[in-house]
Amino acid sequence: MTLHDLRFDNAWATLPDDFFTRVMPTPWSGTRILDISPLGADQLGLDVDALWRDENEHAALTALMAGRELLSGMDPIAQKYTGHQFGSYNPALGDGRGLLLGEAVTGHSFVDLHLKGAGQTPYSRFGDGRAVLRSSIREYLAGEAMAGLGIPTTTALAVAVNDEKVMRERVEPGATLLRLAESHVRFGHFEWLYQRQRPEDMKRLAWHVIDRYRPSLRDANAPLEALFADTVARTADLVAAWQAYGFVHAVMNTDNMSLLGLTIDYGPYAFMDRYQPRLVPNHTDTEGRYAFNQQPGVALWNLAVLAQSLTPLIDVERLRETLDTFEPRLQATYARQMRNRMGLACEREEDHELVSSWLALLEKHGADFHGAFLALGDYDGTATTIEKVANALECAPDEASLQQWLQRYAERLEHETRTHRQRHADMASVNPRYVLRTHLAQSVIESAEAGDSEPLQTFRQLLADPFTEHPGYEAWQQAPSRNAPPVCLSC
Ligand code: AMP
Ligand code: MG
Ligand code: MG
Repeated sequence: MTLHDLRFDNAWATLPDDFFTRVMPTPWSGTRILDISPLGADQLGLDVDALWRDENEHAALTALMAGRELLSGMDPIAQKYTGHQFGSYNPALGDGRGLLLGEAVTGHSFVDLHLKGAGQTPYSRFGDGRAVLRSSIREYLAGEAMAGLGIPTTTALAVAVNDEKVMRERVEPGATLLRLAESHVRFGHFEWLYQRQRPEDMKRLAWHVIDRYRPSLRDANAPLEALFADTVARTADLVAAWQAYGFVHAVMNTDNMSLLGLTIDYGPYAFMDRYQPRLVPNHTDTEGRYAFNQQPGVALWNLAVLAQSLTPLIDVERLRETLDTFEPRLQATYARQMRNRMGLACEREEDHELVSSWLALLEKHGADFHGAFLALGDYDGTATTIEKVANALECAPDEASLQQWLQRYAERLEHETRTHRQRHADMASVNPRYVLRTHLAQSVIESAEAGDSEPLQTFRQLLADPFTEHPGYEAWQQAPSRNAPPVCLSC
């Protein structure tokens, strides 16, 4: 299929007319595509090779990324929403630097095409409506990495750079990202209608979500309650996966929370290198509200804000009961994922303790989070493999804390029925070799800014397939050196 074959059904634009504002993209000049995602192309049913090689296809994608031309059937809008930012309600939010160009219909599902960096909208406040290359690449790679790990996320079809510069803390190359999501519906859409006291419109929006994205809930006893329960369950699973893979979102404001349980709005996020539960990658988050270990509690707080917004539609007692399912669900999903990562196929009471003592060991030694799981996958009780784990922890093989922990792990493995070899293979299928490390993303960005997008394409390819060993690409596994200064990130 080609871009011009895409069909659109722009349902958001049929909602009440202050749910959005029609805005045309502000064109960029000198737009060049730096990468096209095979994953994004696949989601739309497009041929990624044709998007690169066919002159017409490439020109159409470039014009789309430049905000110069639309595809037939597109109807660009900026969505209105609000949200709680760092705990305070902000009524003035909405798509300020991105436009929903159209909702593509692909077989039986839908894909929002959202152009980030498309120019000012009525919701831009003081912003220029633009995006810079650095953050566009970071968002692009994050979608690939999350999808590679099997964690629900927005993705992107392509990332492009423009000749025009944009002023941030320094002058930077301007860029656009063509973001894809099943839907961009956020907690903040419901908060807006709650604050404006519009229960009928809120009901309309909730039914829109059910009809289009959760049709199986139509037959539930109480479909609106079932929709909230679905959001709670998916958010619990999502945050459990973030915790299991060391991802810090860093800006968990309610406007950045997807009703469908996707990771959305990548800003100063990080995959931790060394295991640091209090990691706060966003340097403007001075109180550590969105620290790694705060994420489960923040997600619940955000869900409580959503629940409050839904009180005109759903009985308060039912909302409370549903919120109470969040923590057990998150714990169960997290425990399952950590058992998988640690090679524990059966479930035993002592596993919780084994996982937390493993994490304590990693924290004590400042061990690289990802390398440690890979080394543990190799462990089979022999001196060579003990040495591998010790190397990953950067301690001596006879270090007492390591010896004691490995003793417990070895005892625990005796309850497993799998051979070491099978366990190794199963662990390799869930423990990534290639991780979106901040320092690697930074070097990709620096190359792209200097005109070389090959490292970007290489890293994207590895992140999309993170469990497979790619000989010759060891440099893309490297943790930052111990004394490297941290990369400073902001929104
Ligand atoms: P974020 O921190 O990315 O979730 O953005 C919060 C709000 O600020 C959203 O309404 C964005 O659309 C808006 N915003 C952020 N950056 C810009 C910008 N450069 N121009 C216009 N609006 C922006
Ligand atoms: Mg946002
Ligand atoms: Mg954002």
